[in-house]
Amino acid sequence: MVSEEQFLQKHFKQFYLNRKVEGPPDIAAREFGIGSFGQKISKRHLSFNSLQEFNSFLREEAPFFVSYSSALYRFPGKRPMPAKEFLGGDLVYEFDADDLPTGCKQQHDSWKCPKCGKEGRGRQLMCDECGSATNVEEWFCPQCLAEAKRKVFNLLDFLQNDFGFSEGIAINFSGRAGYHVHVRSRAVRQLSPAARIELIDYLTANNLNLFSHFKKKETFFTCPVLKERSGWPQRILFELIELLEEGDAEKIAVMGNTTISKARKVIKQREIIIKSIRSRQIIPSLFGRVSSKEESQSDKFWLSFLNNIVAKLAPIDRQTSTDVSKIVRVPETLHGGTGLIASNVQLDNLKQFDPLKEAIAFGANQTVKVFIIKAPRFHLAGKSFGPFAHQEEELPLHAAVFLLGRNSATMAGD
Ligand SMILES: [Zn+2]
Ligand SMILES: [Zn+2]
Repeated sequence: MVSEEQFLQKHFKQFYLNRKVEGPPDIAAREFGIGSFGQKISKRHLSFNSLQEFNSFLREEAPFFVSYSSALYRFPGKRPMPAKEFLGGDLVYEFDADDLPTGCKQQHDSWKCPKCGKEGRGRQLMCDECGSATNVEEWFCPQCLAEAKRKVFNLLDFLQNDFGFSEGIAINFSGRAGYHVHVRSRAVRQLSPAARIELIDYLTANNLNLFSHFKKKETFFTCPVLKERSGWPQRILFELIELLEEGDAEKIAVMGNTTISKARKVIKQREIIIKSIRSRQIIPSLFGRVSSKEESQSDKFWLSFLNNIVAKLAPIDRQTSTDVSKIVRVPETLHGGTGLIASNVQLDNLKQFDPLKEAIAFGANQTVKVFIIKAPRFHLAGKSFGPFAHQEEELPLHAAVFLLGRNSATMAGD
């Protein structure tokens, strides 16, 4: 019987034989890396002179993962790194649903403590019995993907409206639970390391001085004149008004770090608050008459509310890498852990794009018998599968590849 690895390799090879991967622009100046079964990067410092050479390599090797450098080099294949001679680099932002606190993780993720054996649902990183780091089994679902996409739209808004990057933006599905955004314009390529860090600082609101825009006065805050949604102060103000208009008491309570009943009081006063912001540039004091005690409650509410708005709006987090030598998945290649294609997505198609339908590489006509170790309910090509536990199933090729790639299933004998 063929091994899981041989089986996948055979189908990956077939995939690359049947199509030409467009590859990233300036292919001859990129460093490439490939991965093997269960390992995203097993070899780096590869280079190709042409698209043709790159595609021949894919057909021959059919790697499980293919990555390329966002940087451009004079000698991309040389090592160590300085010998490559850095010429410039694109910006790449990666969004992965694994890092987002989606509620659905409670349904599809699970954890197990390697020390005491306790296990449970959700993405729990520390054992609540013995305090050890747990092993988390991460899955993803349409809700995860939608949340990652929302982050992409948020970033695009900043890139286009705050930075004025209109050219060279390319988006692709990561091949698993997220999206990659590439900015490949000439202006971006020449950015110094310091300028790259500055961009990250801006996007994470790292050196935003909130209170130079929202000044604390005796019983209220002043705010900027409401204009249009670009730049941090305006974004914060627009979001504040939107949240009040939406009037979700639970959400407002969380954002303002207060009780639901206090949040309801805020909602009751929302028309006055919004009018005051619009016409007088004042965020008024809340919760009735102002005694010194009440006043501090109002302050606390607005401080928490404003800070949480900043956290909510920041399109990327502080862990975002500024490493220019990192390599990322080549668009239109296969992700070895899912068998899905890291499909390019046109900007105007992003909203409708459904990777669980449009990034399917393998047909549903062929079925394969596999032994499934464990899998929650998952979705592919408009169908849902599972949940499964220790059972043999005959699955469409794409679903079998999906499980085999992540070691959640093994080949089953005839
Ligand atoms: Zn434990
Ligand atoms: Zn999910």
